[in-house]
Amino acid sequence: MKILRFKTKDITAEPRLGVDFDESILDLRIAAEAFFEGEAGNAYELAKTLFPADMKKFLSLGDMADSYAKAIVAWAVENDIATIKKEDIKLLAPITKPDKFICIGLNYNMHADESKMEIPAVPVYFSKYPNSIIATEDSVPLHPETKKLDYEVELAVIIGKKMQRVPESEALNYVYGYTIVNDISARDLQLEQNTQWVSGKALDGYAPIGPVIVTKDEFNINQAQLKLYVNDELRQDEKATSMFRSVAYLLSYLSQTMTLEVGDIVSTGTPAGVGLGFDPPVYLNDGDLMRAEVTGIGSLLNTVKAI
Ligand code: MG
Repeated sequence: MKILRFKTKDITAEPRLGVDFDESILDLRIAAEAFFEGEAGNAYELAKTLFPADMKKFLSLGDMADSYAKAIVAWAVENDIATIKKEDIKLLAPITKPDKFICIGLNYNMHADESKMEIPAVPVYFSKYPNSIIATEDSVPLHPETKKLDYEVELAVIIGKKMQRVPESEALNYVYGYTIVNDISARDLQLEQNTQWVSGKALDGYAPIGPVIVTKDEFNINQAQLKLYVNDELRQDEKATSMFRSVAYLLSYLSQTMTLEVGDIVSTGTPAGVGLGFDPPVYLNDGDLMRAEVTGIGSLLNTVKAI
C-alpha cells in the first residue's frame, strides 16, 4: 500500500489520508465510511478515528489501523468505490511533525570519496526539524545565506513501533514503510562556516519528503534504484543496496542510545553524484527542477526558488 496525505484543491479542504491508485487517490476516510456503513456503531466516527489527518496519529494506532486500511483498499477496488483524480488534489508531506528526523551521513562509498571524506568508524548522523519539511511540488527556497545549494536523494525509513535497544536481527520488524527524502544541503554553511553539519541541513524547506510512504510489505530494497535529476539531467544513480551500513544496522545502532518513536524518520544517506562532487562543483540555481526517485516509491519534484 502506498499511503499519502493530500488535500483537494477546494479552498476549505482539510488534509486527509489517502492511498495511491496510480491515476487517482482513494480517500481513506470516505472509503472507510462506506465500508463500515450498516455495521454496528457509527461509521462516520469509526472512519474518523481510524484515519485521522495526521499520519503519526494513524501510525500510532498500530497494526489494527493498518490492517483496516489494507482491507478497505481491497474492498474499494472490488466495489469500484469512487476515487479522486490526481489533478484535483495537492499531495502533502506524508509526515510533518515527527518527534525525530535523523539523517545518516557518508553511507555510500563513492559519495564519501567525492566528498573527500572517509566512511566513519561509527555512523555519523545529524538532524532536521519540522521547519525543513516540504511536500513534492513545493519549492525549495534558495536562501540568500547560501551560494552552494546542493541535492541528495535518499531512501528514508518511517518507524512504525517504538524501538529501544533492538538488535539488528529484529530491527526491520519496527519499520512501517519507506519514503524519499531529498536532503537539501547548503554546503558553505555545512562545511565552511560551521563544524556542525546541521547548520547547512536544517534551513526552512530543506527536507522535501514523499510523495508517499510505501508499506514495508510492498517495498523491495533489492530492486530499489536511487536517482536524482536536475532539469532532466541524471546526476545520481545508485542501488539502495550499495549503502555501506544497512537499514537494519542503522536502526539498531540508533536505538541503543536513542528511543525511536512511531513516525520518526531515518534517512539513510546519499549516493555519489551530488553537486559538491563535480570538478568544479555544480550547485543549484534559481529555477532548477530536481526530481528525486526511488524505485517502488515514486518521484519527488521540487523547484529551487530564490527568496
Ligand atoms: Mg544526506
